[in-house]
Amino acid sequence: MMTDRQECQSCPLFGHQTVILEKLYNNERDCDVLFYGINPGKQEAKYNRPFIGPSGKLLRSKIEEIELNKFNIAFTNAILCSTPNEKDIPDVEICINHCKDLTREITKLLKPKIFVPVGQNCTTVLFHIEGKISGLSGKLIQRGRHKIIPVIHPASAIYNRNGPAAEILLNSLKNIKEELSW
Ligand code: URA
Repeated sequence: MMTDRQECQSCPLFGHQTVILEKLYNNERDCDVLFYGINPGKQEAKYNRPFIGPSGKLLRSKIEEIELNKFNIAFTNAILCSTPNEKDIPDVEICINHCKDLTREITKLLKPKIFVPVGQNCTTVLFHIEGKISGLSGKLIQRGRHKIIPVIHPASAIYNRNGPAAEILLNSLKNIKEELSW
């Protein structure tokens, strides 16, 4: 699907395929956790589902491992247009800003209990949270009545298999579950 919104026409990614949202639940309750990635990649565009490429698969497997999927989970992205790789986004800040009205609409529709920016770019640019994601991952940031818990990008665990990212990711997801279980 492509959008024909006026706002999109001046975006550098205008004309790229969009992937909007996946809800892992079909009950009527509001969303518990909404994950915001940076943008859909090749696999996501092919199947029209966010977070199904290698890092999405890793994230989903960690979610299942700790049974976070007992809650109402959904996935979207800060930039809804796909590119083959994240590095193919010409200007992350400009593209995120072009998508802001849509991401706001998605958020309003789902009313998530916890907002989860995935990775550094989404945390800094979409949520305006300062600091390195390795330190922020899993920490609760309360903004008015909104709860935000950023998590490290699963790609970090794929690129650096012997590094701490996989454990940081798992512990961060456990913190989200704990926050929901209160
Ligand atoms: N898949 C997505 O949909 N978004 C990301 O940021 C990474 C993988």
